[in-house]
Amino acid sequence: MTTLSPLLKQATPVVVDHALGSWIWGIDGERYLDFTTGIGVTSTGHCHPRVVAAAREQTGLIIHAQYTTVMHQPLLRLTAKLEEVLPARLDSVFYANSGSEAVEASIRLARMATGRPNIIAFHGGFHGRTVAAASLTSAGTKFRSGFSPIMSGVYIAPFPYAFRYGWDVATAIDFSLKELDYLLTTISSPEDTAGFIIEPVLGDGGYLPTPPRFLEGLRERADHYGIVLILDEVQAGVGRTGKFWGYQFSSADPDIIITAKGLASGFPISAIAAPRDMMSKAWPGSQGGTYGGNAVAAAAAIATLEVIRDEHLVENARIRGMQLREGLEKLSSSHPHIGDVRGVGLMQALEFVTEAGDPNQSLANAVQRSAVDQGLLLLACGALGNVIRVIPPLTVSYDEISSGLKKLDAALAMAENV
Ligand code: PMP
Repeated sequence: MTTLSPLLKQATPVVVDHALGSWIWGIDGERYLDFTTGIGVTSTGHCHPRVVAAAREQTGLIIHAQYTTVMHQPLLRLTAKLEEVLPARLDSVFYANSGSEAVEASIRLARMATGRPNIIAFHGGFHGRTVAAASLTSAGTKFRSGFSPIMSGVYIAPFPYAFRYGWDVATAIDFSLKELDYLLTTISSPEDTAGFIIEPVLGDGGYLPTPPRFLEGLRERADHYGIVLILDEVQAGVGRTGKFWGYQFSSADPDIIITAKGLASGFPISAIAAPRDMMSKAWPGSQGGTYGGNAVAAAAAIATLEVIRDEHLVENARIRGMQLREGLEKLSSSHPHIGDVRGVGLMQALEFVTEAGDPNQSLANAVQRSAVDQGLLLLACGALGNVIRVIPPLTVSYDEISSGLKKLDAALAMAENV
């Protein structure tokens, strides 16, 4: 009998029958509040009627209009629509299918545009699983060990993870910028450094917002040395943080934005946006792919952007994010194993610790499993798996956040009593 590969790891035993909005119904007849959104993908909730209608309509017109053979209207329309949300300087867009592919496209572009070989990524970052993207990833050895050699020319600089260092945020930022300068002096000279790549909020690495001053420090160095600043907005972008792009909490404008996940509410499409003169430094045909910028996914992305605008979902993410944060902080005051509550908008997390203050992976796992019993789907993250992330759809309501917090409280009590 052919079975699914054992190398897939499953966070929950749920087999889905159907889903709508914030809810998933299992084939067991149970209903689950989905605060995973398929790892931050179903931005407009599951099966939003306008996204479903757009995809259905496009499926009847053309499904696969291979974009280096013929051009199709959804991609032209999506590109025009992205102008409403992209910084004006990033006026040229290239499409792929997944976050990892778009990350690779950004690295290829930064190298070709600068003629330099090296990329500096930041400790705890997650940029994907393809070999080049995995080489940039330092959110856990499981993402990069066992299949070496990975891509060379990548250097990992410290990230200001204040809670881990046990420092205040200002000290962690000063330290990390100083170490970055040291890396540029001792290992990868500016003349050899094509790009910095960073997430506005470290995602799989533990839901750590990048402090604005740190991002601004990267921008200063990028300007000074002609290094390309790449913002990986794959998880934090498209409204999740309560701003359209996660970097917008700072004054550091990126040179390349990478987007995927929430862009099409679940259809696979990703993109990089950069200034046209930078894109022009790479030759035509240097990037491409069979499925990139799929017509049905592009139609779903247009509908997603329209729903986000018409239903004021960026603002909803900010307001419901505050409600969620307040509730999580309340939970942390009655559950001493919650060492840290952090995040922005609808990208919030709890870091679990032992009595001694060490990472507590077993409790985080138990909470995640107990939550399923309470009808709440959650995911863990962090290099040590001791962080629980809460990622509701941008459409989430007041009552759904309240209900999720109650379920989480019950799951915490269950897990602590095991
Ligand atoms: N970058 C970030 C910030 C991500 O969160 C992810 C996925 N978790 C990726 C890149 C890779 O995206 P994909 O899984 O679509 O390849």
